[in-house]
Amino acid sequence: MSPSGAAYRGRFAPTPSGPLHLGSLLTALASWLRARQAGGGWLLRIDDLDQARCPPGAREMIFRQLEAHGLYWDGTPRIQSEHLQEYAAALEQLRAQGGVYPCSCTRARLAIESRPGPDGPVYSGRCRASPTDSAATNAFRWRVPGGRVVLDDPVQGQLWRDAESEIGDFVLRRSDGIYGYQLACVVDEQAQGITEVVRGADLIGSSLRQLLLLHALSLPVPAYVHLPVLATPDGRKLSKQNGAAALDERSASRNLLLCLRALGQEPPAALRGAATQEILDWALRHWSLALVIPTPQQAIPDFPD
Ligand SMILES: [Zn+2]
Repeated sequence: MSPSGAAYRGRFAPTPSGPLHLGSLLTALASWLRARQAGGGWLLRIDDLDQARCPPGAREMIFRQLEAHGLYWDGTPRIQSEHLQEYAAALEQLRAQGGVYPCSCTRARLAIESRPGPDGPVYSGRCRASPTDSAATNAFRWRVPGGRVVLDDPVQGQLWRDAESEIGDFVLRRSDGIYGYQLACVVDEQAQGITEVVRGADLIGSSLRQLLLLHALSLPVPAYVHLPVLATPDGRKLSKQNGAAALDERSASRNLLLCLRALGQEPPAALRGAATQEILDWALRHWSLALVIPTPQQAIPDFPD
């Protein structure tokens, strides 16, 4: 049970831009373990708002990869592209509060005028003051409230940002009409009744932005847990962009053991070569969030064959 008394509901929300890699499995496994250990639900969400990035068949491949690793979800996956009206309604609600404005800044202008921030460029606020020209190609930004946004993470400790100087006004709908990640996420957490979000530490900035939106929309606030992100030996985050290999379903057991090691858990050597179900059973009995290393990045551990 969560502090609010609601049954635990977690989720995994991959973008179907390609197959899952070891880093995505780590997040999926940890959130599945949190949910199942709490006797709660584990839901799936497909982040396919930017359809141009989602090749046909990638969604089905992700389902198959999860199943091959024994990570079964509850109910029907929520497909973001089927819920555009809900994102539009949330944007309208924020607009009615007076916090949304059109922004026609070009990429080049943003590159010159934005300030560096802890999670990337911080928008200058230019279009907040002066109305923009071409209505057809505007993005819509949300005016962040003043003050500090804070969250207590059981792994990473207390996290915070100053909303205006470190986050800045961010995009709710892009100029091509695609809804922003932050807006879609908060609508989805509410729609799926999510009580805890387990995600990589590369998304700490997103969690803090989402907290601001949840408060503005008067939505229930889930708990957040940020895990170390798997990195290559030279310190780069494993990602599709830098060519992380697709999960090999034939080594599902080994993949699970590597992720457990990276999460600070200590699966016994006797589990080498065991069936995925046996590994997951062990993990459910022994999983401890307190063992997860409180660092933003974690090298892929050794687990000799
Ligand atoms: Zn602008």
